[in-house]
Amino acid sequence: MIDPIELVDKKDPEKVIAHACGKCGTVCRNGKDAVEHCEPRLCKCGAVLDRTQAICSACWEKKRKADLQAKIDAAKPISATDYDGPVHWEQGDRYFSDVGEAFEHLADDGVRDAILWPCDKLYLALNACDIIRDALETQEHHDEAEASEKAEKALQDFLDGWNDTFGEEVESWFPRCDEIVEIPQAWWDRHDAGQRND
Ligand SMILES: [Zn+2]
Ligand SMILES: [Zn+2]
Repeated sequence: MIDPIELVDKKDPEKVIAHACGKCGTVCRNGKDAVEHCEPRLCKCGAVLDRTQAICSACWEKKRKADLQAKIDAAKPISATDYDGPVHWEQGDRYFSDVGEAFEHLADDGVRDAILWPCDKLYLALNACDIIRDALETQEHHDEAEASEKAEKALQDFLDGWNDTFGEEVESWFPRCDEIVEIPQAWWDRHDAGQRND
């Protein structure tokens, strides 16, 4: 440990106004920071950290794995044969429109430990209230400007029809972790048998 340098006002040398690191001279917020400035920062495992790290990369990786395992343990397993929807492949960070497509990719790459999350689908839905509010803002109407309830409802009735017809043109997928999709062993058996016959 190196003692910090006390910085004083020349006019009042009794009063310490700041501290600097005793080794490199950098001025710090307080005495404690100055003492620690050039001391190596340590991870809880004892590894030396660089200035930008709060945790070493080995501990970070360990924590990431433990967090993922906890997420998997908390999820209810469902068979791929009982699930019809898009999936997110955790390790590859890729989305597939259904489990069949995911399996084709995984089988090609020989990935047998894939973690697959089911995804909720979200379609585009236009909302009268939002559209009117955006228009009032972008057209810079006065602060109290608003459309009547009747006017808003008329627009929403129109939009409901539009949403039904066109909403599914825009689709986004959001993985959820309450369930985890499992590839049945039979799929792999069939795949392996197919390969042997090639
Ligand atoms: Zn220093
Ligand atoms: Zn560590």
